[in-house]
Amino acid sequence: AEEQLRQAQKVEALGQLTGGVAHDFNNLLTPIIGSLDLLVRRGIGNERERQLVAGALQSAERARTLVQRLLAFARRQPLQPTAIDVRALVTGMGDLVASTTGPQVKVVIEAAEDLPAARADYNQVEMALLNLAVNARDAMPEGGTIRITAAPRTVADDVESPAELKPGRYVMVSVADTGVGMDADTLARAIEPFFSTKGVGKGTGLGLSMVHGLARQLGGGIRIFSQPGVGTNVELWLPTAAEAAHPHLPGAEEPAPHGG
Ligand code: ADP
Repeated sequence: AEEQLRQAQKVEALGQLTGGVAHDFNNLLTPIIGSLDLLVRRGIGNERERQLVAGALQSAERARTLVQRLLAFARRQPLQPTAIDVRALVTGMGDLVASTTGPQVKVVIEAAEDLPAARADYNQVEMALLNLAVNARDAMPEGGTIRITAAPRTVADDVESPAELKPGRYVMVSVADTGVGMDADTLARAIEPFFSTKGVGKGTGLGLSMVHGLARQLGGGIRIFSQPGVGTNVELWLPTAAEAAHPHLPGAEEPAPHGG
C-alpha cells in the first residue's frame, strides 16, 4: 500500500510538472504555427524554401498534438460517469479502429448480448480503447488481427482479485492483438508514465498509464497479458452501473478498520 501511495504521488507530481511545461509550450507554439501557416498560405520563396516552411509547420503541428495529449493527461478532467452501453460503444468503433490501422490489419469486434451497463464516461472509455487499438496496430507492422471483445465478469469474495479489483460485477473489455508482444521487463514497466519503447517522436509512453488511471478512477482496473512473438491482450474492467449503485456487500472476512 505504501509503495502504491508513493507511485501515486510520483504520478501526481509528474502530472503537475508536465502540465506546467505543456501549458507554456502550447502558448509558445501558437505564434509559431500562426506565422508558419501564414507563410505557407502566401507561398513566398522558391520551391525549396516553401518545402522547408511546410515541413516546419508539420513538425510544429505534431508538437502541438503531443503537447495537447500531455495537457489532457496532466489535467485529468473530472469524469462524468453515467450508465453506458459498452456493447454499443465497441460495436460502433469498428470503422474508427479500421481507419487507424489500415487494410493489413483485420479488426474483429464481439460483444456479449446480455452485457450489463457499465458506470463510466463514454468518451473517455472510447479514447482509452482507441489508445489500446493504436498500440495493437503498432505491435503488428506486418499486419495481423485486433480482437475487441466485451463480456460480463464477476469478481467473487473468495478468489484472489485480478488487478486490485473489489468483489462485484464488471464489464470487461479486452483488446487483443497478434503482434510482437512484450518481454518481461517491458511488461513490468508498460503502465509507467513516459515509459515507451517506440522511439523519440513516436511514443509518449502515456497511453497505458492513461488507460490505467481512468480505470482506477472509475473503480475498475486493467490487466495485461503478453507473450513475445505471440501477442498482447489488455483487459479493461469497468464496474457495472448496478454494482456502483448498490455496492456488493463485503463478506464477513472483511477486516474491521483499525481504530486510531
Ligand atoms: P506508447 O504507446 O506511447 O509507447 P504506452 O503507455 O501506450 O505508450 O505503451 C508503453 C509501452 O508498452 C510501448 O512503448 C510498448 O513497448 C508496450 N506496449 C503497449 N501496448 C503494446 C502491445 N499491444 N503490444 C506490444 N507492446 C505494447
